[in-house]
Amino acid sequence: TGPQQLLLSRIRDVPDYPQPGVVFKDITPLLADPEAFSVLTEALAEFCVRHGATKVVGLEARGFILGAPVAVRAGLGFIPVRKAGKLPGATLSQAYELEYGTAEIEVHAEDLARGDRVMVIDDVLATGGTAAAAMELIRRGGAEVAGLAVLMELGFLGGRARLEPALAGAPLEAL
Ligand code: IMP
Repeated sequence: TGPQQLLLSRIRDVPDYPQPGVVFKDITPLLADPEAFSVLTEALAEFCVRHGATKVVGLEARGFILGAPVAVRAGLGFIPVRKAGKLPGATLSQAYELEYGTAEIEVHAEDLARGDRVMVIDDVLATGGTAAAAMELIRRGGAEVAGLAVLMELGFLGGRARLEPALAGAPLEAL
């Protein structure tokens, strides 16, 4: 069994969470398994190196858990993209549509610099709304998007197609 089988075997399907009809992909069994967690962070770090990233952005909250060890392994700095209202310094913020209502994410403006190539890391790509907003933030901060790397893509939600304009040619890797 290869690395993908190992990772898949450590993801738990939780039916009707957080609401009826949704099957939630729970990655906590993977995080608790040192071999699977190591395989995952190594694969994501390799993607950062291959695409010439100079910084790693993690999306709150599970993107922090994955992005931080990936940044250390790849020898890169880590930038948190947080839900609105959590960062103390001067921020750039970006609103985006949810199924019901809107959400807003923020980044410290000083973390992004011209010439940076930023890899965005998250656990699950669903509709793509969060990732698209993050890539918008990165470009507004003057940096370049090196790519988007996720553990898992929920293909039936069509996120990859919806993300095409936001990716603008940058690679999307789903393990
Ligand atoms: P999107 O903006 O619709 O692509 O949703 C992606 C965000 O929601 C990511 O930050 C994920 O962590 C979270 N998310 C959506 N579905 C799941 C799931 O089944 N398991 C874990 N996280 C999820």
